[in-house]
Amino acid sequence: MALDDDIERVLWTDEQISKRVTELAGQITRDFSGESLSESSPVVVGVATGAFLFLADLVRKIKLPVTVDFIRAESYGSGTVSNGAPRISFDLKVGIQGKHVILVEDIVDTGNTLSCLIAHLESRGASSVSVCTLFDKPARRKCPDYFIVGYGLDFAELYRNLPYVGILKPEIYN
Ligand code: 5GP
Ligand code: MG
Ligand code: MG
Repeated sequence: MALDDDIERVLWTDEQISKRVTELAGQITRDFSGESLSESSPVVVGVATGAFLFLADLVRKIKLPVTVDFIRAESYGSGTVSNGAPRISFDLKVGIQGKHVILVEDIVDTGNTLSCLIAHLESRGASSVSVCTLFDKPARRKCPDYFIVGYGLDFAELYRNLPYVGILKPEIYN
């Protein structure tokens, strides 16, 4: 049984993802190369686990000194529908007091996870929190309202290792 068998169709290929990641890294490099950053490198915070591939590809293309860390917020459990208020279940190792934080997310759906994380990072004294998300569901309708997997995104912790992003066949979760 091949991993691909459960995918209805591919939405973004690994080449398309890579091109977008390059653009985002370029934008971050431009946005954060100001003189105000001389004594403080931005902290790139990946939201585990979904952002792990995106974070790894992104930071290799950012042409600035950055610190890398992870945070984990849980709301989805193993289903495809959010199960209420997210909570932080794994916190940062590095201090972010007075630092610019770039929060790297795989996908924003309702925005609940993001609001929870931004409030948390601000309460830790971040001087700014910017968000870099690869996919955005309802907010700007860039991503159709399917349940998607691959390139870090899971269903029940599976499919994260697909190199592309595709729509999961509904019979897998129904
Ligand atoms: P939010 O709190 O914005 O509703 O949900 C964000 C989180 O839900 C994302 O970080 C991601 O883990 C998960 N999520 C939302 N939509 C999808 C989807 O289509 N596929 C996968 N695999 N996860 C999703
Ligand atoms: Mg996520
Ligand atoms: Mg998940």
